[in-house]
Amino acid sequence: MTDTSPGTGDRTRAGARGRGAPAVFVDRDGTLNREVDYLANVDRLRLLPGAAAGVRRLRASGFKVVLVTNQSAVARGLVDLSGVEAIHRELARRLVAHDARLDGIYVCPHHPEAGTAPLRRRCRCRKPRPGLVRRAVRELGIDLARSYCVGDAAVDLGLAAAIGTPAVLVLTGHGRRTVGALGGRLPVAHVATNFRAAADWIIADAERRTRRRR
Ligand SMILES: [Mg+2]
Ligand SMILES: [Zn+2]
Repeated sequence: MTDTSPGTGDRTRAGARGRGAPAVFVDRDGTLNREVDYLANVDRLRLLPGAAAGVRRLRASGFKVVLVTNQSAVARGLVDLSGVEAIHRELARRLVAHDARLDGIYVCPHHPEAGTAPLRRRCRCRKPRPGLVRRAVRELGIDLARSYCVGDAAVDLGLAAAIGTPAVLVLTGHGRRTVGALGGRLPVAHVATNFRAAADWIIADAERRTRRRR
């Protein structure tokens, strides 16, 4: 499923009352697949080592895995929505080949300054704004209080702050650059070498939290 309509800015907090499944909101470029500076063609799609294993392990532990991605390449005219959907069909196909299914794919195609209207706009769904996560929470029945965010960039950490989940930074993609830029003030719960290591840490952390609540 690729959903590219903008967030609706609802004020309800479905899932905030402890119902629903926990989720991991995962970034795409630099986290699941190799960062290539505006992935516009499916031929350049390369899964990162550990990506499929991470998705598989999280789902086996009861997490929904939801892809949340900024694709300003659409606003910039580098790829159209059908091209993004083709990339996501192929990404999903390769993950499923390793028994790893995504529960949802949410895309922001906008940019506040690049391109032309209607894609050029200040939207509610471009990370770090929480519009896409709000929609996923509503549509998939997610318990935000038990959820996590994983990504390689500052916007992913900002998204975690916006929705109030722990953030895990992966060192793939722009991860090392992000560590360098934010230095000692890194707003993260954990730094992981790749998505599989992030998944393993999240699964262990969720178990620790569950034990503490008992
Ligand atoms: Mg990224
Ligand atoms: Zn948007």
